Parts: sequence; C-alpha cells; structure tokens
Amino acid sequence: MPDLRTIRDALDEVMDPELHRSIVDLDMVHDLEYEDGTVRFTLALTTIACPMRQQMQDDARERLVALDGVDEVEIECREMTDAEKQAVFGQGQQRVGSATAYNDIKHVIAVMSGKGGVGKSTVAAMLAVELHRKGHSVGVLDADITGPSIPKMLIQDEQARPMGSPMGILPVESKSGIKVMSINLLLADPNQAVIWRGPLISGAIQQFYGDVVWGELDYLIVDLPPGTSDASLTVMQSIPLNGIVLVTTPQTLAAMVVRKASSMAEQLEIPIVGVIENMSYVECPDCGKQIELFGPSNAAELASAMGAPVLGRLPIRPDLAVLADSGRIEEADMEGFDTIVERLLAVLPESASTPPLAR
Ligand code: ADP
Repeated sequence: MPDLRTIRDALDEVMDPELHRSIVDLDMVHDLEYEDGTVRFTLALTTIACPMRQQMQDDARERLVALDGVDEVEIECREMTDAEKQAVFGQGQQRVGSATAYNDIKHVIAVMSGKGGVGKSTVAAMLAVELHRKGHSVGVLDADITGPSIPKMLIQDEQARPMGSPMGILPVESKSGIKVMSINLLLADPNQAVIWRGPLISGAIQQFYGDVVWGELDYLIVDLPPGTSDASLTVMQSIPLNGIVLVTTPQTLAAMVVRKASSMAEQLEIPIVGVIENMSYVECPDCGKQIELFGPSNAAELASAMGAPVLGRLPIRPDLAVLADSGRIEEADMEGFDTIVERLLAVLPESASTPPLAR
C-alpha cells in the first residue's frame, strides 16, 4: 500500500505543459487521499478552461496506477482561488500576448452610443448580467479607457485587482462570476483620471483582449467609449465582433448618430444588430402611466435608418441607478430586459467580423 508521500512524489513528476512546472510545485494538488486502492485528489487549475487539463489528468492517472496498490484514480477539477493564484504566481509576471491560447470566446458584442451619459455602460452591464442569469459564461471588457465605469457597477470590492500570471492577466470576477477587465481596476486610486493619448489607449484595449485570460466565454461584452473615437476604431479593427448594439436616449440627435455609427460599422463590415433606447420614459408609481420625460421616442426612426431592429426601450429607474452606482447591478430586477436579450440573441450573427489588424 503506497503512502501519501510516495503518491505525492509520483504526482510531482506530472508537469503543467504550458508552465513547465510540476503540478505539485504549482500547488495544484489538493485533498489528496488514498483508500482501498483508490487515489483521490482535486486538481486546481489556473483557469477551468485550461486546454491542458485532460493531458495533466491522463499523465497523473498513468503515473499513479503504475504504483503498487493503486487501482483507481479519481480526479476532480476546480479553478484555483484568487489567493492560490496570487501565492503561486505573484503579481506582474504576465507575458505579452500570451493569453489567447487559453481563451475560447464564442461571441463578442460591442455596446456603442453617440454621446456620453445615455446609459451605455449601464446597458452593457445589464446585458452581461442578464446573459449570465440565462446560464451563459460572460465577460465584460471596459474599452471606455478615459471614462471607465463598468467596475463601479459590477465590482463591490474596491480593492479587487486583476492579477498577473504566466498565462496573462487574470480578470476580476463579480459576485456572480462575471469576468471584468477595466483600466479602473489597475489604478491605485479608481478616481484618478486617465489622461492617455490614442496609441496608449489602443495598446491597453488590445491588451485587454489578447493578454487577459478570459478562458471559455459564451459572450464578451465590450463597453465602447462614447462616440466614434479612435478607441472605438481600435476595438473594431482589432477584435472580432459579432455585432454592435447602439444605446440612445429620446433626445439623441438621431441623424448624426446614425450617420457616424453606420459609416464606421459599414467600413469595418460589422453589423449594427439593434438599438436600445434608454431613459425612454418614467413610469408613475401610482397610476403606471408612462411619462416621456425627454420627449417622444425616436428609436424606431433611428433603427430603421440603420436597418436594425429596436431591441427595446428602458424606463428611467432610480433603483437601478442606486444599485449601479454601488457595484450591485447584479441585484437589480431586470424586468423586461430578458425580452431585450432574447431579441438580441435572435439577431446576433453566429460568425464574427474579421478585424483588419488581425487579417
Ligand atoms: P454612459 O456609459 O452612456 O456614459 P452610464 O451608463 O455611465 O452612461 O450612465 C450614466 C448615469 O445614468 C449613471 O449614473 C447611471 O446609473 C444612470 N442611468 C443609466 N441608465 C439609467 C436608467 N435607465 N435609469 C436611471 N438611471 C440610469
């Protein structure tokens, strides 16, 4: 009968093929036990989407059954906790451009607006929350580098920071498990202003896509900066997008937004898949009457000029603003938003654009 030390020594021969270190040395082996010919342990992976997990399990099995007295091997996989990753990898050791090998992102949806303050980031966060509630794995890439507000809505812990690892940058996770990457999470003081110019901003956005270990995602939501700036162009030129959602409010100067957004999307061959009108109306809490505070809706007109459907209209909701401003948007009642997401998924193309910089 082998003792646990012998078993551990055998596992010490199993290498993580990407990191070139033993799984024992990487502290991936937990809850090791032996009982009646069966070895059981938990394999803590750097990311649950680790493409090498099967290879490591097969290797471990092979080495263990070669030991006298071992007939069966039961391995349970889980993802390392943040503290475990921190202990093994420490901070700031990422290799540039390394994360794409670990990522399998099935759909990318960019959220755009003609101008700031219309609720683009709120809608981006709500899309992420609703998709996650529907059982999908979801990430949010905050490409609004100079006005990042995604962490404020999704991350309650102000001390949460993305960690470096040999595979790339590990994103911060929201309470329910939405992966988030934003420049705000990297600043010592989240209130500090980011006064970067174009090339730095473009570099950060490309890193947020290529150097972040997103793992396996059904949907990555990209919160674009307002308008059609260089940063939006970088996203469209370097990230394969399945579609763009345009967020507007009733007072939007429709013609201008349509012209700018449409021409950008057309040139880069990315479809605008729908329009969401935010702050469309206020509902009277007593009689339920809808009051169009900012004037009548022009969503239908705007959408038809772009050849895209209106995915939905959202009311002004003070409760939503309170939750969004305190990192608790995941707790919001998403009434009516599920229909918007269903409509979006029905029109979202399965195939993504081929960005010029990746061609
Ligand atoms: P943008 O990304 O377009 O600049 P934000 O999403 O940051 O806009 O929203 C601006 C402000 O408006 C935030 O304080 C947000 O909480 C609030 N807000 C957005 N949508 C709504 C809504 N439907 N009801 C109430 N407040 C909202």
